[in-house]
Amino acid sequence: MAGNLTFTMIKPTAVKNNHTGDILKMINDAGFKIIAMKYTRLAPERAELFYAVHKGKPFFERLVSFMCSGPIVAAILEKENAVEDFRKLIGSTNPEKAEEGTVRKRYATSMTENAVHGSDSDENANIEADFFFSKLERY
Ligand code: ATP
Ligand code: MG
Repeated sequence: MAGNLTFTMIKPTAVKNNHTGDILKMINDAGFKIIAMKYTRLAPERAELFYAVHKGKPFFERLVSFMCSGPIVAAILEKENAVEDFRKLIGSTNPEKAEEGTVRKRYATSMTENAVHGSDSDENANIEADFFFSKLERY
């Protein structure tokens, strides 16, 4: 059965360009409830850990240094079928391929600086939520 939670980050460029409010509005308008949220900055060791599955890929170093380049907004989102519906809302990883009306189509500036993260499975949603938030920080 599809789970009800997903995890997202608004990535550094989108935060720096003042798109946080617009992106959160898109998330709320699509029916997601924010159950935890924080404005924070990843240390390099933390970013490497978060993206450990991509270690060794040609874009890994670029990705880690980008994700540490400024503050991010991390959040846990709740909705029926959350993972799949959120991936639809954010659109393709490559902004050139992202569908009209998606977050990445609107706000991504490149494949690396693609505005937002969205979990790719229920299992990873839980792992990623636990990476950023204790149980006491969820409402
Ligand atoms: P995310 O995990 O951030 O939601 P995704 O699941 O669509 O994105 P992944 O394959 O998990 O994509 O890649 C993680 C991130 O690594 C991407 O969001 C992107 O920032 C970066 N990335 C992935 N592939 C490339 C690539 N070929 N070139 C540059 N950056 C890439
Ligand atoms: Mg991914």
